[in-house]
Amino acid sequence: MNIENGPKRAYDLAAFRTAIGNVRIYDDPKQVELRSRDYFWYSPILAEDIGHLVGDLVVVPKDQDEVRTVVAAAARLRIPITIRGGGTGNYGQCVPLEGGIVLDMTKLDRILEIAPGRVRTEAGIRIARLDDAVRETGQELLMYPSTRRIATIGGFFAGGSGGIGSLRNGMLRDDGAVYSATVMTVEPEPRLIELKGVDTHKAQHAYGTNGIVLELELGLTRATDWAHTAALFPSYDAALRFSVKAADDGLDCYLLTVVDRRFSRFYTKFGELFPPDEDAVFAMVAPAETERFAAYAAEFGGRVSFSMSLEDLHAKGLQPAYECGFNHTTLQALKAETGWTYLQVAYPRPFDAGIVKRQMERFGENQYMHHEIGRLEGETQVFGLPLVRYYDREDAYRVIREYEELDGCEIYDPHVYTIEDGGMKEIDGDQLAFKRLADPFGLLNPGKTRGWTPDMAAR
Ligand SMILES: Cc1cc2nc3c(=O)[nH]c(=O)nc-3n(C[C@H](O)[C@H](O)[C@H](O)COP(=O)(O)OP(=O)(O)OC[C@H]3O[C@@H](n4cnc5c(N)ncnc54)[C@H](O)[C@@H]3O)c2cc1C
Repeated sequence: MNIENGPKRAYDLAAFRTAIGNVRIYDDPKQVELRSRDYFWYSPILAEDIGHLVGDLVVVPKDQDEVRTVVAAAARLRIPITIRGGGTGNYGQCVPLEGGIVLDMTKLDRILEIAPGRVRTEAGIRIARLDDAVRETGQELLMYPSTRRIATIGGFFAGGSGGIGSLRNGMLRDDGAVYSATVMTVEPEPRLIELKGVDTHKAQHAYGTNGIVLELELGLTRATDWAHTAALFPSYDAALRFSVKAADDGLDCYLLTVVDRRFSRFYTKFGELFPPDEDAVFAMVAPAETERFAAYAAEFGGRVSFSMSLEDLHAKGLQPAYECGFNHTTLQALKAETGWTYLQVAYPRPFDAGIVKRQMERFGENQYMHHEIGRLEGETQVFGLPLVRYYDREDAYRVIREYEELDGCEIYDPHVYTIEDGGMKEIDGDQLAFKRLADPFGLLNPGKTRGWTPDMAAR
């Protein structure tokens, strides 16, 4: 429901400005509004509920010392802080519900060390810059979101879950993905806490509610010169079954995205490479596997439409395969037409392609199908990101209930802004305990976790 915009608590912004001295500030209302938004507008429900909410000031510290200055002042003056990386989250994660400061982390972008199998970096670096740098050492990131170019690694850690590469290397929560996280507490005298191994889960996917992540140490793998590929199929069912078989048989791919033919009108740059009468699988395939990929596709009545290096794609003005999947698929449609939203779905394992067939019959023109193939607990996991015709709130939740009750799917509700109502489902006791330690006054991104109520704040 629509959250009241005011009256905001009266924060002593004048004292805050004095306390932070020369740290860069944006207070122009247009800039503040721009940096109080993310991609919540994928959901008309979130747009209505929180789309109008803005912070009071944006601060852009240039280094960790300046972050400390900002945080100390905000803690002393009890001003809320909403941390912002690239601002590409879909759940309104960066929208300040109670005003206050938007803390832009993008200047904290130093890579601290690249070693075999690991990289230590500041959290505000854009993922593309980080991945490009580790590639120069013959390594690559285990995974990244399709927003690789804009998203920061800290935002991915605090707001994401997996993405391109997860098919091969698992999810962010899996062993070996994140080795350590350095977190700054929000107190008048901020402290640094180093989380290692599974303890990093305490701050991971916490929407920046329990500490400011300054540095991360991530796992790397040997770089592959992925072939950006698409295969075309006579039916969606064939495209989906091909992708699941390829994953089950361990075909070395970094991405397998299945896209309904009805999306082709949004992929205009691809022309005949993705025509309206065939369903597509966009993939990143190891060069040594491209022949096997083509042979598998043929088994399902498919054919390879293109297979190019990143450089060739760029030369032809086409986007890389990783911008043809995940929520970039949704984005192509939302940029072109109104009246749509989307869903995030996990299908039961072992996967039954019959469920999708039935869903396509049931929803007809009200849904365009799109699936991502991933790996969870060592098994192939099929995720759905269908484009869903939006009528109203009631209908959106009727569709969700059908996925859950008729099809046995799990929905990560994209129309909500708390951690628990979305993917997490329940309050994470470890994250909450860590919040008591790292954010004792409850100033970080208030309202985004149901586990914390204002009465829990230290005085
Ligand atoms: C087109 C599109 C495609 C996407 N594809 C994927 C995908 O493939 N996989 C996926 O997981 N997500 C995906 N997303 C969601 C989002 O892009 C990712 O989660 C991304 O990693 C967020 O990074 P960001 O820097 O933009 O974070 P932001 O949106 O800036 O922040 C995300 C959350 O993290 C917090 N945060 C940011 N930096 C820090 C920090 N240093 N310390 C503590 N908290 C912090 C913020 O407060 C916020 O709650 C997609 C979104 C879009 C719009």
